[in-house]
Amino acid sequence: MLIKFTGMPDRGLGPIRTETIRLPLQGGPQYSVDVLRLDLLHPVISGNKWFKLQYYIRQAVQENKQSVITFGGPWSNHIVATAAVCKEKNLQAYGIIRGEEPRYLSQALADAAEYGMQLVYTSRDAYRKNLLPSSLNELVATDHAIVIPQGGYGAAGLRGAATMADLFDPSAYDQLFCAAGTGTMVSGIMQATGTKSAITAISVLKNNFELEKNINSLLQQESIASQHQINHSFHFGGYAKFNQRLLAFMNELYAATGIPTDFVYSGKLFYAVNAILQQGQVAEKNKFLVIHSGGLQGNRSLKKGTLIF
Ligand SMILES: *Cc1c(COP(=O)(O)O)cnc(C)c1O
Repeated sequence: MLIKFTGMPDRGLGPIRTETIRLPLQGGPQYSVDVLRLDLLHPVISGNKWFKLQYYIRQAVQENKQSVITFGGPWSNHIVATAAVCKEKNLQAYGIIRGEEPRYLSQALADAAEYGMQLVYTSRDAYRKNLLPSSLNELVATDHAIVIPQGGYGAAGLRGAATMADLFDPSAYDQLFCAAGTGTMVSGIMQATGTKSAITAISVLKNNFELEKNINSLLQQESIASQHQINHSFHFGGYAKFNQRLLAFMNELYAATGIPTDFVYSGKLFYAVNAILQQGQVAEKNKFLVIHSGGLQGNRSLKKGTLIF
């Protein structure tokens, strides 16, 4: 079912809050962990997608573009969020979807189509090369459309993600944790927080060692500063892959704290934070902040009853 769309969130006006929880869940030495609940911002354009899209959309509106073209896989939160924002702003959205047209639309694609996005399927090869289908070339050539890269990756996405750091005080924390797909969000946070706090990004793709390079190129730096780390150990087999252990943890976390997570990003993020704290290799008096970037609508592709929330 489509989640009701109730208007564009203004930054800082959503019911965002920070909550304090105790981890690890399994007992042992406990750490106090703050959670920035960006999942509360909006049911569809939840968490980081809105932050990453805002400057692209602003540009489209200011330049009187008619259309927005973007890229994504069949399970992409970015595709749904872009479709929802474009509907709100009266922009025609085109989603270039990797792979052949599926027999049954994924929940994400069905939602995007319902918001009025036109879905254009393209071969994996063309997708990898960022090629626009010929039917859309005209739109771009005549300057009627802006093109947003997959996941909002790019300078405007970085600038938008950096505004996430307005929602907390970086100097109040020793260690931030967030999830990483394209790395746009963590790049923005790194840029905004500088050396005030260390950041650990949990990569949700398997062996995506390009991530470091992509972050460096967004930040126009040679290397990620030493206090920033990308952790590649909690992908659970790859993007959108999961197992019973992850789902059980998500249920346990919800039962203990009331915080819902999704199995693609935030579930893996909290699982990783829990495991890192459980290993006890962090100073107990450190102040931790976990950035819950949303993504909950993705859980609708799980079998009913899998999660207790
Ligand atoms: C897309 C997404 C991410 C990843 O953001 P990147 O900027 O691509 O690294 C993290 N969390 C959620 C919930 C997302 O939807």
